Amino acid sequence: MKARLQAIAQQAQVCSCGNKHYSIDMDTIEIGAGALKQAAVYIAEQSWTHVVMIADAHTYLAAGNNLADELKQRNVACHVVMLKPDDNGDVLANEVAIVQALLEVPLHTDAILAVGSGTIHDITRFVSYKMGKPFVSVPTAPSVDGFNSMGAPLIIRGFKTTYQLHCPVALFADMEVLGKAPAPMRAAGFGDMIGKYTSLLDWTFSHRMADEPYCPLSAEMTREALESCVVHAEDIAAGNDEGIRILIEALIISGLAMLIFGHSHPASGGEHHISHSWEMIFLKEGRKQILHGAKVGVAAPLIAERYKQDLVPYLNGSRAWPEGADKGLQEKLIANKEELLEAVLSLPEPARFKELLAQVGGPTEPQDLGLEEAHVAHSMKEAHLIRMNRYTILHFLNVQGL
Ligand SMILES: [Zn+2]
Repeated sequence: MKARLQAIAQQAQVCSCGNKHYSIDMDTIEIGAGALKQAAVYIAEQSWTHVVMIADAHTYLAAGNNLADELKQRNVACHVVMLKPDDNGDVLANEVAIVQALLEVPLHTDAILAVGSGTIHDITRFVSYKMGKPFVSVPTAPSVDGFNSMGAPLIIRGFKTTYQLHCPVALFADMEVLGKAPAPMRAAGFGDMIGKYTSLLDWTFSHRMADEPYCPLSAEMTREALESCVVHAEDIAAGNDEGIRILIEALIISGLAMLIFGHSHPASGGEHHISHSWEMIFLKEGRKQILHGAKVGVAAPLIAERYKQDLVPYLNGSRAWPEGADKGLQEKLIANKEELLEAVLSLPEPARFKELLAQVGGPTEPQDLGLEEAHVAHSMKEAHLIRMNRYTILHFLNVQGL
């Protein structure tokens, strides 16, 4: 992965999109068998003598205790912050977990290790950033694409908000650890990637319609990562070495695409806002949470369907522009109609999304997640309000009443 990192950094330097590109402030990304040991070697090489590991009971068993042993052998003191689950058995990236971590991480620590999946990374990213400490990423499942980006979606007062913080200084993905991750976590990682079909479309749309910045390099990296997952869906479903490697690499590349661009545009659009909205509904109702990628996967075909049904008629002129809707936006839509039409029509059919999700054993319907029709209808109408500063087709359709 080192050569790939350098290649991406070089491409970012010569990318002519005119946006600021962020440098990849990471020493290394290691993917392979034995990466846990490499993590310990790296940590010892930094001359860090005291580190803190943030984990939960599951991820500690999956990787934490082995890493702690490796560190001990190298005379690195490792203090473990074991995050406590809530009454539903969930560890959430919320105030409770953040305060627990802030209370338990000693001030003199040299670095913090995130040992877990997305939630533990978001907590660690926040705490390490606020404490001014570097953090090291040790994913325990290929379940999400946020390990090596700067953004941390946190739930504060029941509301999901994404904060731009910092990326890990190094990432160590041990294939032996990832290979033992439960199959639904793999399916969730695949679901998070399938969501890039609609997030990339939303990005093109927001660039043309709302002048949001766009980087073709970052978009291309994300699309390639998405396509590699689709091509290897069978291997990912089987959970063989090839499949797990393709999936974790895709998730990491998606993270790097966000990292060089500095925002989550390539990886998060309307489908993510729907997923966030469902998460908030579950919180309000005190229900057990569902994996982020599982929700994104189910949301993606719903969003694709809405976009095909309700945007295409305004692009091909088969539906009249309503009286009260913004005329300036109509002009912009017409000016960009060829590009936008092609982008919407090239989205896979909703049935194809579901076929892919089912192939890897993931949920496909809102009911599979325990959602009722009223929840889905509510989210389709209101999810864009979660992130008003991010333009999407969903935002456009809802605000214009289309
Ligand atoms: Zn995601």
